[in-house]
Amino acid sequence: MSVTLFTNGSVWPGTSKSPVQKAMAISGGKIVAMGEAALAISSDKTLDLQGGFISPAFADGHAHPLFGGRQSFGPQITGLETIEEILAEVKRFADANKDLEWIIGGTYDPAIDPNGNFDATLLDSVVSDRPVVLNAMDFHTIWVNSEAMKRAGVDTFTGELEIGTVVRRPDGSAMGTLREWDAVNLIMDKAPLPSMDREIRALEYSSKRYASVGITWWLDAWVDRGMAEAYLAAEEAGVLLQGVNLAFRADPRSWEKDLPYFLEQRALIEASKKNKNLTAKTIKFFADGVIEGGTAALLEPYTNDPCYHGMPVWKWEEMTKAVIAMDRAGFQIHIHAIGDAGIRASIDALEVAIKTNPSWDRRPTIVHVQLLDPADLPRFTELGIIANFGPLWTRQDPMQAVSSAPRIGPERTDRQYLMRSLIDNGTRVAFGSDWPVTSEIPLEGIAVPVHRQTPDRKPEGGWMPHEAITIQEAFQAYTHEVAFQAFEDKNWGTLAEGFNADFIILDSNPFEMDPHDVPKIKVVQTYRNGEAIYSQ
Ligand SMILES: [Zn+2]
Repeated sequence: MSVTLFTNGSVWPGTSKSPVQKAMAISGGKIVAMGEAALAISSDKTLDLQGGFISPAFADGHAHPLFGGRQSFGPQITGLETIEEILAEVKRFADANKDLEWIIGGTYDPAIDPNGNFDATLLDSVVSDRPVVLNAMDFHTIWVNSEAMKRAGVDTFTGELEIGTVVRRPDGSAMGTLREWDAVNLIMDKAPLPSMDREIRALEYSSKRYASVGITWWLDAWVDRGMAEAYLAAEEAGVLLQGVNLAFRADPRSWEKDLPYFLEQRALIEASKKNKNLTAKTIKFFADGVIEGGTAALLEPYTNDPCYHGMPVWKWEEMTKAVIAMDRAGFQIHIHAIGDAGIRASIDALEVAIKTNPSWDRRPTIVHVQLLDPADLPRFTELGIIANFGPLWTRQDPMQAVSSAPRIGPERTDRQYLMRSLIDNGTRVAFGSDWPVTSEIPLEGIAVPVHRQTPDRKPEGGWMPHEAITIQEAFQAYTHEVAFQAFEDKNWGTLAEGFNADFIILDSNPFEMDPHDVPKIKVVQTYRNGEAIYSQ
């Protein structure tokens, strides 16, 4: 088998303390030698890195690429800064897609309004003949037009919901902003599902996009009915360039009924002969919502609402029961937990499952881990829980400064994303982009936990600088630690003899520059199993 040598650059093997090597040799999809040993073997082909940098390829330990692919069709409202810009784009898209029955898109920045509340009449002014549903960046809130509310029967008389709120105008009528599950589902249950062809095109978009930013594996952390079928169809159509693991969402109302379906889908995916890239090993739980929407579950009340502790998605006893059942069925547990009460309840549930069920290599993950009570910090290491963070979130962006800070006050604001403390305590810290909630580009986010500043370098010295990590630790969190989370750490995430040749070539060395310049680095090539799945 032919051997390719990569030389004349730096090769970083993939753990924060491992020394950078001068060369790497691959053959038959595997790494066969590193450093001097690679230079010593006879190669058939040499690739000149031209001073570039090789790292293990990125792996996205928490993302929603099917949603991202769907959203790529439009309207393109992500990043727009005013209501006028959003309305203009929705109108443009609606005019260009007259046959589309429902316009469903995202994501708008809820911080455009101080309370995050948007009126349906604004959307009515541009589209009134069919339903419009826009997702907020947090994916826990929607802004809809009056036609969407009419089709769903949402009006003044819609009653109180168990998990969710219909925001109302002073006169009691439904305003057009709906928060959390029961409210969002009032509308979304009426929306048509996308066709299978459209779903395959969405995944094709996401897969190509991910290859171009250096990603060779992802976890889809929100799989509802119909989505595993779309992934399997996409895999059978040959459009998936990456390895993908699916996390089925456990719903507090239907998880017992859904478990046989999850087992059946897992078995189908494992049995498919054409499937090389897909697994379905994981169950996703939402413990709570988000701080900026006032729905994260907090131990102490919200600063701006002294009687209110947030909105847990589950009754905690029920979540524990479901975690035990899913763990017993051999699923890895992946829990969204943001508030300190949500995180504590998640750790408690995992602890009970670990003590109740037979031992196995379970690698449970809590994702976001935004506001962690210090008393719970050592429990991650004690119980072997992985902490997965969105690195781009560890800065004082408008979401933090405008939407979150007034809700939790200064003391709790400066107790978020305790990455340094967790790593020093021995916890595995892995990264996920949470795309399309935030950017899918690893190089955009990866250095933010290093400086903990906004792009204009605020605040000086960084936000909570004692919780900053090194750039090497950040790369490890986006490569090796996700491989561990994926049960793949013996196959990829490290560049060493015998490992899969899953790596990226960058045009410069991220360890030898101002961390603020890391987003300017270009991905030159992305390799998976020794094949280039992207070339600049
Ligand atoms: Zn997410």
